Amino acid sequence: MHELSICQALLEQLTTLSQQHPGGRIVGIHLHNGPLSGVESALLQHAFEIYKKGTLADQAVLTIENQPLRIHCRDCLGDSEASINDWTCPECASLATEVIGGDALILARLQLDIH
Ligand SMILES: [Zn+2]
Repeated sequence: MHELSICQALLEQLTTLSQQHPGGRIVGIHLHNGPLSGVESALLQHAFEIYKKGTLADQAVLTIENQPLRIHCRDCLGDSEASINDWTCPECASLATEVIGGDALILARLQLDIH
């Protein structure tokens, strides 16, 4: 399962981050997941609950916020939300659009409890 390796990479990243704050305990993790990231939020959430045990994120609550796909239109220069299978600009119906958001899994926020 693809989400398992994502989860392990996430936990490694968290470990590195928390080492920069000795004594800190990870209490909350906030991720932004786009529809084109290739990551299934529910699967990642499930993998996290299993893999966090015994790590610095043992007590952490993972929140995954699904983000919309965002496109930029090269004709009218507008930015808008799009569906996964239709990247037509909703403003001018142009097909000259490019994805500017929703194609990645992003670690948006990390809450540390520092004593
Ligand atoms: Zn447009």
